[in-house]
Amino acid sequence: MRKYDIKKVLGWLGFMLQCPVCSTKYQVSNIKVLDSHQEEDFPEAHLLIHSDCHKCKSSVMFNIDISGPDIFTVIAKTDLTKKDSSKFSDFPALALDDCIQIHESIQSFDGDFIKALKTK
Ligand SMILES: [Zn+2]
Repeated sequence: MRKYDIKKVLGWLGFMLQCPVCSTKYQVSNIKVLDSHQEEDFPEAHLLIHSDCHKCKSSVMFNIDISGPDIFTVIAKTDLTKKDSSKFSDFPALALDDCIQIHESIQSFDGDFIKALKTK
Protein backbone atom coordinates (compact mmCIF):
# COMPACT_ATOMS: atom_id res chain seq x y z
CA MET A 1 0.00 0.00 0.00
CA ARG A 2 1.22 3.47 -0.86
CA LYS A 3 2.47 5.47 2.12
CA TYR A 4 1.98 9.16 2.63
CA ASP A 5 5.10 11.28 2.50
CA ILE A 6 4.78 13.14 5.81
CA LYS A 7 7.12 15.92 4.64
CA LYS A 8 4.89 16.57 1.63
CA VAL A 9 1.80 16.47 3.83
CA LEU A 10 3.39 19.02 6.18
CA GLY A 11 4.27 21.24 3.24
CA TRP A 12 0.66 21.10 2.10
CA LEU A 13 -0.60 21.75 5.62
CA GLY A 14 1.68 24.76 5.95
CA PHE A 15 0.14 26.09 2.75
CA MET A 16 -3.49 25.29 3.63
CA LEU A 17 -3.79 25.77 7.39
CA GLN A 18 -4.26 29.17 8.88
CA CYS A 19 -4.39 30.50 12.41
CA PRO A 20 -7.98 30.43 13.74
CA VAL A 21 -7.27 33.59 15.77
CA CYS A 22 -5.72 35.97 13.21
CA SER A 23 -6.10 34.01 9.90
CA THR A 24 -2.36 34.13 9.18
CA LYS A 25 -1.11 31.16 7.16
CA TYR A 26 1.21 28.92 9.14
CA GLN A 27 4.85 28.54 8.30
CA VAL A 28 6.05 24.96 7.92
CA SER A 29 8.92 25.73 10.31
CA ASN A 30 6.34 26.41 13.07
CA ILE A 31 4.57 23.08 12.61
CA LYS A 32 5.65 20.16 14.74
CA VAL A 33 4.36 16.59 14.43
CA LEU A 34 3.58 15.28 17.91
CA ASP A 35 2.23 11.93 16.77
CA SER A 36 1.71 10.17 13.45
CA HIS A 37 0.41 6.81 12.39
CA GLN A 38 -0.16 5.22 9.00
CA GLU A 39 -2.25 2.15 8.30
CA GLU A 40 -0.42 -0.68 6.57
CA ASP A 41 -3.34 -2.05 4.55
CA PHE A 42 -5.40 1.09 3.88
CA PRO A 43 -4.57 4.55 2.49
CA GLU A 44 -5.10 6.16 5.90
CA ALA A 45 -2.93 8.30 8.14
CA HIS A 46 -3.44 10.11 11.41
CA LEU A 47 -1.43 13.13 12.50
CA LEU A 48 -1.40 15.22 15.66
CA ILE A 49 0.45 18.45 15.06
CA HIS A 50 1.17 21.57 17.07
CA SER A 51 1.67 24.97 15.57
CA ASP A 52 2.60 28.36 16.97
CA CYS A 53 1.37 31.39 15.03
CA HIS A 54 4.32 33.62 14.20
CA LYS A 55 2.04 36.69 14.10
CA CYS A 56 -0.30 36.51 17.13
CA LYS A 57 1.74 33.92 19.10
CA SER A 58 -1.29 31.71 19.78
CA SER A 59 -0.84 27.94 19.78
CA VAL A 60 -3.08 25.41 18.11
CA MET A 61 -3.19 21.63 17.91
CA PHE A 62 -4.56 19.92 14.80
CA ASN A 63 -5.81 16.36 14.76
CA ILE A 64 -5.75 15.31 11.12
CA ASP A 65 -7.17 12.12 9.67
CA ILE A 66 -6.37 11.33 6.05
CA SER A 67 -8.48 8.65 4.43
CA GLY A 68 -7.80 8.25 0.72
CA PRO A 69 -8.68 11.60 -0.89
CA ASP A 70 -10.52 12.85 2.22
CA ILE A 71 -8.87 14.93 4.93
CA PHE A 72 -10.58 15.65 8.25
CA THR A 73 -9.20 18.14 10.74
CA VAL A 74 -10.14 19.04 14.29
CA ILE A 75 -8.58 22.22 15.59
CA ALA A 76 -8.10 23.01 19.28
CA LYS A 77 -6.61 26.22 20.56
CA THR A 78 -4.20 25.46 23.38
CA ASP A 79 -2.09 27.30 25.91
CA LEU A 80 0.64 24.67 25.50
CA THR A 81 3.71 25.94 23.71
CA LYS A 82 5.64 23.70 21.34
CA LYS A 83 8.06 22.94 24.19
CA ASP A 84 5.22 22.17 26.62
CA SER A 85 3.48 19.85 24.16
CA SER A 86 6.67 17.78 23.76
CA LYS A 87 7.20 17.70 27.52
CA PHE A 88 3.65 16.64 28.42
CA SER A 89 3.27 14.13 25.59
CA ASP A 90 5.66 11.84 27.49
CA PHE A 91 3.60 12.08 30.70
CA PRO A 92 1.08 9.36 31.49
CA ALA A 93 -2.61 10.18 31.10
CA LEU A 94 -4.49 11.36 34.17
CA ALA A 95 -6.12 8.53 36.08
CA LEU A 96 -9.18 8.57 38.31
CA ASP A 97 -6.95 8.44 41.41
CA ASP A 98 -5.22 11.66 40.24
CA CYS A 99 -8.58 13.44 40.10
CA ILE A 100 -9.56 12.13 43.55
CA GLN A 101 -6.22 13.27 44.98
CA ILE A 102 -6.65 16.79 43.54
CA HIS A 103 -10.23 16.92 44.84
CA GLU A 104 -9.09 15.94 48.35
CA SER A 105 -6.24 18.47 48.23
CA ILE A 106 -8.65 21.27 47.29
CA GLN A 107 -11.03 20.22 50.08
CA SER A 108 -8.29 20.69 52.67
CA PHE A 109 -6.71 23.77 51.01
CA ASP A 110 -6.50 26.68 53.45
CA GLY A 111 -6.04 29.39 50.78
CA ASP A 112 -2.32 29.94 51.40
CA PHE A 113 -0.93 29.80 47.83
CA ILE A 114 2.61 30.73 48.95
CA LYS A 115 2.75 27.70 51.19
CA ALA A 116 1.07 25.44 48.58
CA LEU A 117 3.38 26.44 45.71
CA LYS A 118 6.66 26.27 47.65
CA THR A 119 8.92 23.51 46.37
CA LYS A 120 9.61 20.95 49.00
ZN1 LIG B 1 -2.39 33.99 14.70
